[in-house]
This record gives sequence, structure tokens and C-alpha cells, in this order.
Amino acid sequence: MSLPSKRPLLIGVTGGIGSGKSTVCRIFEALGIPVYYADERAKWLVDHDAILKSDITRLLGPEAYDIAGRYARSWVAAQVFGNPELLLQLNALIHPRVYADTDLWARDYTGKPYVIKEAALLRAAGEGGNRLDKLIVVQSPLELRIHRVHKRDPQRTEQEIKNIISRQLSDEERIEMADYVIYNNETQLLIPQVLRLHETFLRTDL
Ligand code: ATP
Repeated sequence: MSLPSKRPLLIGVTGGIGSGKSTVCRIFEALGIPVYYADERAKWLVDHDAILKSDITRLLGPEAYDIAGRYARSWVAAQVFGNPELLLQLNALIHPRVYADTDLWARDYTGKPYVIKEAALLRAAGEGGNRLDKLIVVQSPLELRIHRVHKRDPQRTEQEIKNIISRQLSDEERIEMADYVIYNNETQLLIPQVLRLHETFLRTDL
């Protein structure tokens, strides 16, 4: 089976926990733009993709999957915790599969002017072979993010949220990679910012 030769533009949307990535993506979806939720899709691939499962088993051993073939997430997390080299090796297996899967997914939408890939961690467009044409960073004040996540996930303590934030990229690092920034604070309206970008992607030959 031959692949269609062209895929639409691929625009990344990233931001720290609670910045409003999913909210922004839901607005793009309301405009008819397909969104690939990479973190969820990566979880699915790790559970179901036969080649990836066998690569992960080769790297980490048979304990990486339980007898029902389900990914042993907590066990794997414990193995890579404090072992950055092993985490790098694991990511070196997962990331290329997600890139290839994104490509295949995007080729289903050749009629669309552009599609979106959402993930908590994305690199600058084109970096490390990531296939993104442009990157949008969603930026939101720290206190507001903590407040919104706490409201959305009441089971998480404020300290847990702060710990996650401390392990993520800083605002400065994300802004550095951005082609576009959406400010999701309480003074700038979100929808007009998304609409402006939508029009840019429709008009511009990027
Ligand atoms: P995560 O990294 O945890 O997936 P996220 O960056 O995707 O988070 P969202 O889930 O979009 O963030 O937003 C976090 C919470 O804040 C959600 O409950 C969402 O409804 C709320 N929220 C986001 N933006 C706004 C806004 N502009 N006005 C009101 N509520 C908002």
C-alpha cells in the first residue's frame, strides 16, 4: 500500500501542566481542525504496538508487561527513576514510534489546511526529527495554573502540582522554542487569540 505523498502542516501545541493546552485544542477542534493528543496516544502505543512492546521488553526485561500483556507503568517508572540513561533509552524507543504514528495519522487529513499535535513536552519545530512545522506555546501564570489544576483534579495536593511543575521545562525555556505564544491568563481572551492563529495558518504558506 503506498502512502499519500503529502500531509497537512503539523502545528504543535505545548505548555506546562494546567496552562490550558487541552482547552486551546478544543477551540481548534471546534474550528474543524483535527488534534492528535500525543500523551494519550503514546500510552496506547506502549500498550498495543507489537514492535514497541517487544523493543521495550528487550530493553527492560519481561517485567515491563504483566501476564495479560499490559504495560507495568509503576514498575517501569521505578526502574527509570534515578536512572536518566535508561529513561533516555526508553524514550529513544517510544518517541520515534510516536513521530511515525503522528505522520500516519496526519496523512488521513490531507484535505485539511493544518492539523495539531498536543503534548506536555514538545521540542522546537523540526528539532530532533519531530516533524512539527510550527510550535505554539500556551503560557499561563503559575498561581493560576496551580489553582486550575487543583480545581480540576481535587485529589492532587498543591505540593504534588508544584512538584510536577518543578520537573517540567521553565516558562523561559518554552518561550525560547515557540513560534507563537497564546496567553491564557485572566486578562487576555483565549478565543480571539486562537482565531488569529487559525487565520494565519489558513492564509500563510508556511
Ligand atoms: P494538563 O497538562 O494537566 O493536561 P492542560 O495544559 O491541558 O493541562 P487544561 O486541562 O486545558 O490544561 O486546563 C486546566 C484546567 O483549567 C481545566 O479544568 C480547564 O477547564 C481550566 N481552564 C483552562 N483555561 C481556562 C480559561 N481560560 N478559563 C477558565 N478555565 C480554564
